[in-house]
Amino acid sequence: MGARSGNNYLSALRKLKHEVWIGGERVADPTAHPALKPVTHSFASLYDMQIEHPEAMTYRIEDGGRAGLSFIQPQSADDVRRRGAMMRQWAEFSGGMLGRTPDYLNASIAAMAAAHEFFAAADKRFGDNIVEYYRAARRNDWCATHTLLNPRASRAAGWAGQTDADLALRLVDQTHDGIIVTGARMLATLGPAAEELLVFPSTVLKEDPSQKPFALAFAVQCNAPGLKFLCRDPFDSERSHFDHPLASRFEEMDCVVIFDNVTVPWERVFVCGDMARCNALYVETNAVVNMMHQVVVKHAVKSEFMLGLAVRIAQVSDAMSLPHVRERLAEMIVTSELMRSCLRAAEADAARDRWGEYVPARPPLDAARNLFPKLYPRLVEIIQLNSSSSLMATPSERDFKSPIAPEIERYFGQAGAGARERVALYRLAWDAAGSSFAGRQVLYERFFFGDPLRMASALVDNTDLAPLVQRVKDFMARTN
Ligand SMILES: Cc1cc2nc3c(=O)[nH]c(=O)nc-3n(C[C@H](O)[C@H](O)[C@H](O)COP(=O)(O)OP(=O)(O)OC[C@H]3O[C@@H](n4cnc5c(N)ncnc54)[C@H](O)[C@@H]3O)c2cc1C
Repeated sequence: MGARSGNNYLSALRKLKHEVWIGGERVADPTAHPALKPVTHSFASLYDMQIEHPEAMTYRIEDGGRAGLSFIQPQSADDVRRRGAMMRQWAEFSGGMLGRTPDYLNASIAAMAAAHEFFAAADKRFGDNIVEYYRAARRNDWCATHTLLNPRASRAAGWAGQTDADLALRLVDQTHDGIIVTGARMLATLGPAAEELLVFPSTVLKEDPSQKPFALAFAVQCNAPGLKFLCRDPFDSERSHFDHPLASRFEEMDCVVIFDNVTVPWERVFVCGDMARCNALYVETNAVVNMMHQVVVKHAVKSEFMLGLAVRIAQVSDAMSLPHVRERLAEMIVTSELMRSCLRAAEADAARDRWGEYVPARPPLDAARNLFPKLYPRLVEIIQLNSSSSLMATPSERDFKSPIAPEIERYFGQAGAGARERVALYRLAWDAAGSSFAGRQVLYERFFFGDPLRMASALVDNTDLAPLVQRVKDFMARTN
């Protein structure tokens, strides 16, 4: 099939009938449930964009069909840029508020398939499996989510270990058909809207035989018997686009995934019982760099969206000439310029890796992913500071249709906008900087790509610091 339409995605999701729980009830149809309908329909619009703009959003594959560009295994720096441009179009659809658009994991699977020898080195089957899985994912244009972390009831084992062996996802049996796994993983954003769940390691496993049951990488269909998705509280179900312009469109649900003796067919297993391969997987295959590409595109788009919003607020409130407002806008300009610059540098310096795929340069992407969790909360703070009580002077859409509407029209206008436009703007600002949706966005940016402390530590490990130290030593040895 290749690049799919929105209708194709929605009907596949309806047929899937995976086990999703919200507020004590099992969800019958995620495309119709009030908490999930908005995001599934937003994703459908993303898929439709591929059909509407095939040149910009898809590429031709071996069988003559067209697949989504996020599946490309780039053969040049230009291919990397094309992929980035496609990712930008998807990110702009939500102002960067949808973090888990399918390109995030599509690019990761493409890198892993290019690095099939990495998997085959343990077992030839695993190398074949990742290639076949990539082809199937591309052919069906699946929407996937992933889950990396085991639940942690205690910190006794430090960052990496899973002392809570009864809770962690683990191998309990192997049969002719596949592996059987039990335990839980947290989190899986988008679980209820996804067809496929990728289960990969992210924490470092000890090279000890006791860790073997935890050393797994596989993909499972979300409707596999025994697989359950337990959602958090929804935020703003069934509110209008006027009242909650972001949450009513882009709320990506987060859930904990429970595996109750789930059978994973052998052809979907990529690593089994191999700690070293688990620990090396993301870095060696360059999957993490491909994921960072999507992430930094989103960072750039999101910081631009927040800047645009802040400027419009300053215009409407007649504050463009105030020095402190200008200083804050300048700070936001710097953030978005930094994200764009890192992205551009990474794409310009893309190079062929040892698996034959072109990947963006990692250092600028690393810089952006370490910076953004600190910068994004400040963008939110600036929206709050520049809006102040206007964020609370926000009657609802129903008020505009009620007998009090004439008074709203009279009292809520501002220098740069009539009452309705002003209220709509500050409702958007609230959804970006104050609502539950906004709070989750901040939490997401702080943590979704890993704990910032450990990301920083990885950056130190991944940076070649020796030449810099040598330069200092040379300087100190100078006698003139
Ligand atoms: C909105 C959201 C969506 C997410 N979606 C997904 C998803 O789809 N898939 C997925 O796999 N994961 C997802 N995650 C999880 C994400 O990967 C983790 O939040 C992240 O890796 C951090 O792990 P943690 O939450 O267990 O925090 P912890 O490891 O518990 O860390 C919490 C805090 O304690 C500190 N800390 C922890 N241990 C130590 C220590 N030993 N010494 C000093 N400080 C320490 C950390 O620095 C951090 O500040 C999501 C997270 C969020 C918030």
